[in-house]
Formats: sequence, structure tokens, C-alpha cells
Amino acid sequence: TTFADLGLSEDLLRAITEKGYVHPTPIQEQAIPIVLQGRDVMGVAQTGTGKTASFTLPMCEILSGSRARARMPRSLILEPTRELALQVAENFVQYGKYLKLNHALLIGGESMSDQKEVLMRGVDVLIATPGRLIDMFERGGLLLSDTRILVVDEADRMLDMGFIPDVERIVSMLPSTRQTLLFSATMAKEIRRLADAFLQNPKEIKT
Ligand code: AMP
Repeated sequence: TTFADLGLSEDLLRAITEKGYVHPTPIQEQAIPIVLQGRDVMGVAQTGTGKTASFTLPMCEILSGSRARARMPRSLILEPTRELALQVAENFVQYGKYLKLNHALLIGGESMSDQKEVLMRGVDVLIATPGRLIDMFERGGLLLSDTRILVVDEADRMLDMGFIPDVERIVSMLPSTRQTLLFSATMAKEIRRLADAFLQNPKEIKT
């Protein structure tokens, strides 16, 4: 299988080739076509499996296919740590090299007013840690009523870090008509409960 077989377009394929990827990893092979169909996904995968590209690549494809310049974030990726959020942002920069997508980071350690200003300009992809996102929401700097794609990454780490109540609160701010992708390294009972609450008719993908 090649990345072209998975339904990604020329501008993304070029960026992927430049990154040096030849073949999709198993999770990419399974997840990319499903995400492109608009379906919800429960992905059980460890880091190091190519998990990040399995959601960032099809998101780039979907978001670049509709050009609406929204004032509100069009998609949201929740990460448990600042470091992971930065890594995911780096992925968008690399894969989106030939696309006109913009992203914003909402993580601790950065100025709230700078972040608010970036958000006001409108973003295709917002990458956030749960605590900082809720802070911004409470200050009135963020609306999520137009956010149609949600990724909850590393859900098992969110659980270990006590972030699940924050994540549930954030999900309640989003439209119920949306595409949701949930990733976790393990399938603990609590993660299963979240999947039942957040996902609609999900495709379960395991590596
Ligand atoms: P991740 O599991 O998303 O943290 O990715 C682990 C590493 O694998 C990262 O350094 C990626 O750049 C790399 N990677 C992801 N997909 C591929 C691929 N299809 N071929 C080669 N390397 C990849």
C-alpha cells in the first residue's frame, strides 16, 4: 500500500515524500481511509506506531478540501502535555507545507493575550491541553460551536493525569454533530466509557 492508495491528494503526498516516508504504517493504513470517510475512530495504539500522522494527515485533507475561513476553530486536538501538543503542531507544519491551513497552540507557558489574538484571526486546527483551553474559554476568548472535528489523543495519559473531567467539559462545548477520534494506548474500563460517551458508531482500530 502507498499513501496515494489511501486517498490523500498530491499536495500532501509531496510533503510526505519529502519527509522520507515510503509506506504507511499499519495504523495509518487502517485509520486514514476511515477518517477520510468522516467516521468516528477508536484507535488503540502506542506512540511510535505512526499514530500522529494517522489523524493529522486525513485532517489536513479534510480541512483543505473545504475552504471556509471560520472565525472559530474548525478542529480541535487535545493533548495531555505541552510537549505532545508541540509535536503535533510540528506535524501540521510539515504535512501542511503545501496547503493553506493554519494552526494555533493553546498550552501553558505562553502568553494568554497572544494566544487570544491568534484565535481571533480564526484557525483551522487548534491544538490544546485541557486546562489551558478551559482557562481561555472562561475568559471568553474561545468559542467551540463551529468545531466539527475533535481528536482526544493519549486518552489513557489524560486519565492518569486526572484530566478526564476537563475533557468531558470540553466535549460538552462542541457541537454534537462532529467527527471524533479517540486514541489510547490501552483500553481500560474508563476509556471504554469515554468511547461510549464521545463516539458514534466508531470503527475500532488496533495495532
Ligand atoms: P508517532 O507514533 O506518531 O509518535 O510517530 C513515531 C515516529 O514515526 C515519528 O518520528 C514519525 O515521524 C515517524 N513516522 C510516522 N509515520 C511514518 C511512516 N509512514 N514511515 C516512516 N516513519 C514514520
